[in-house]
Amino acid sequence: MFLVKVNIKGGNLKVIKRDGREADFDSRLIYEAIIGANYYTEDKVDLDSIVIKVTNKLVGKDVVKVCEIQDAVEHALMVSKYKATAKKYIEYRSERDRVRETKNKWAKIGIDITSGEDTESQRENSNVPRGTVTTQVEMIKRLYSKEFANEFILPTKYKEAHTVGDIHVHDSAELMTKVFNCALIDYKYMFDNGFQLGNKWIEKPKTLITAMNVLVQVVQVQATLQFGGITLESVDEHLGEYVLGSFKKHFYNAIEDLEIEFNSMEGMELHPDDEILKSNFPKLVSIATRHTKQEVYKACKLLSYQLNTLQVRGESSPFVTIGYGTATTWEGRLLQECILQERLDEFDKSGVQEFPKHLFSVRSGVNLNKEDTNYDIYKKAMKTSAKTCYPDYIFPENQETHTGGSAYYMGCRSLLSPWENEKGEQVYRGRGNIGVCTVNLPRIAIESGKDKVKFWKLLEERLDLTAEVVKWRYNRLITLKAKEAPFTYIGGIFGMQLDPEETIEKVFAKGRGTLSIGYIGLHEVVLQMLGKETATSEEAINFQLEVLNFINSKIEVYKKDTGLGYGLYSSPSESLTDRFCKLDYAKFGSIKGITDKGFYINSYHVNTEAAIDPFTKIDIESNFQKLATGGHISTVEVNNLSGNLEAYEQILKHAHDKGLMYIGVNSPWDFCKTCHWTGELEVSEDTDYNYSCPECGEDNSDKVVLTRRLCGYLTTMNKRPPVEGRVKEIISRVKHG
Ligand SMILES: [Zn+2]
Repeated sequence: MFLVKVNIKGGNLKVIKRDGREADFDSRLIYEAIIGANYYTEDKVDLDSIVIKVTNKLVGKDVVKVCEIQDAVEHALMVSKYKATAKKYIEYRSERDRVRETKNKWAKIGIDITSGEDTESQRENSNVPRGTVTTQVEMIKRLYSKEFANEFILPTKYKEAHTVGDIHVHDSAELMTKVFNCALIDYKYMFDNGFQLGNKWIEKPKTLITAMNVLVQVVQVQATLQFGGITLESVDEHLGEYVLGSFKKHFYNAIEDLEIEFNSMEGMELHPDDEILKSNFPKLVSIATRHTKQEVYKACKLLSYQLNTLQVRGESSPFVTIGYGTATTWEGRLLQECILQERLDEFDKSGVQEFPKHLFSVRSGVNLNKEDTNYDIYKKAMKTSAKTCYPDYIFPENQETHTGGSAYYMGCRSLLSPWENEKGEQVYRGRGNIGVCTVNLPRIAIESGKDKVKFWKLLEERLDLTAEVVKWRYNRLITLKAKEAPFTYIGGIFGMQLDPEETIEKVFAKGRGTLSIGYIGLHEVVLQMLGKETATSEEAINFQLEVLNFINSKIEVYKKDTGLGYGLYSSPSESLTDRFCKLDYAKFGSIKGITDKGFYINSYHVNTEAAIDPFTKIDIESNFQKLATGGHISTVEVNNLSGNLEAYEQILKHAHDKGLMYIGVNSPWDFCKTCHWTGELEVSEDTDYNYSCPECGEDNSDKVVLTRRLCGYLTTMNKRPPVEGRVKEIISRVKHG
């Protein structure tokens, strides 16, 4: 025990505690704190002398804050000979501060969400409607996961770089569990081999309507086991056999109904296009064909309806993309026609459908040119896009030129690199992407003060760090055992059935999976370094190319060093566009054209304010898209071209000829559900989105729908408002013709 020789308890001195309450000053608490710190050291502290020093500092005051007393103790110990005790005291104090801050932060998350305040975090993902109980539950889960991951999972070095805004670790909430980002799921493999779904073993479907039902269920279950997009690639190819299954079913039904005697003939096939069958049994073929067409249309409607109404992860729709365009068979063509027709019909009833996103593959010899077999379907696709936004277009020939292979995009823009299996076959289906880390490029330009040597050096450092982060994420992910996500890894989402005890490494190893290095704001980089922009300057284009080439040369090194599938990814930056800009504004102040506009321009894109025609935009961006082979999308803004499909086709042809791999054409698709008016509502910064129909005056926000493309996906803005910077970016978009 110690002697309380100095005790100025009582008197007039009041202490303001952290929670704001007042208490009488009590020097015994100082003794206790010093003894606590001293306990772990060899110091023989003269307690009284320290306490006297502290209390002397307080003489003459009426009130003092707890932290002031602590500062005084800290100072008295530091200048004394008791260095070890001083160190312990400081450590103890900062640990207490940390715990207290954490507690406050964690409590604040809950308070913000439960009080229904529309915090920025609730808008981070605009695929989630705000303000509902389901969303609150999802947000509680997501934000606590994010805090937990930041506090206990993400290594300090990465966390710090993320917090200050040098880099952005995407989807950090998802680090709580070992889940991946996007996938081209191998539903063909699953259908062919069967798989367990809930309590039931699913056999290979026989007809299209069953196949489509199962497909929706696969998507629903898988959407909770990953956090990015799911792409169902080549549906016109892989679902064709089920269309024929339906034809057979309807054919045999017709035989029964009409009581016709049917015997198979030599060389005859039970296919709606078979000449022998058609000439010998015209009535049966005609009836079965009619029923099959009805079933295919119904199945397409089912897919669209289900994917727009399913709710996973709160009230979020699963991010699903379907890819088609290559099949030239009877059944493949029918599938494409029905997919498109369903969109057109649905638009007339309820406007743009957000999901699934559609990708249409355009290739010469298949559908690009007037003489091609599927040119009629390509035309129908353009008619559909002009009216309803989707499909977007991909050009596999250009992908082959620039990447060495071709594939549908995962999610909204992620592209897999070519990869060969042990038999030397190129495989895309059944592969995925593990997650993204994005470099804040404009910050590097600002920090380097227009000095290019500094710029390259800083860029290299930040890229190295980014590569390290995604590799760390990869290493963490691949320790998962197949039995921990059996539907994904045993069910066959990745085209293989792993042993339950096996880790999932082989799914993502050796370049099979992608590790994405993202980037944002090339426009701001060039503007900062040269004072020029790509819309008007050749020099700007060249510098932008230099930056992308530099990043790619680094990626080649990472690939070689690790054997892993690094890729350069044009981050969708839905909320990042806002975050990086705000952080840089706070750090560097207002810089004209850079930090003063509230957002950074997406990836390699031309300044959204540049008044150029779509052809010029394509000319400029075609320089860059081919260098970001891990993911990209170019878009052009046009007036509604429903009445001018020739112009639409010219834009796409130009994109194809210029070597673009992926393009979306944006035009106004706002819609009034009351009078079916469609056109363009003026976007204001009023984020309550109270619009009324210019035609009939309807002002119910559920009925007047404002839809804009945010990243690669569409968003109904009044339901799911995006972050502030994104709204500014949308307003700034200039029509390119
Ligand atoms: Zn109306």
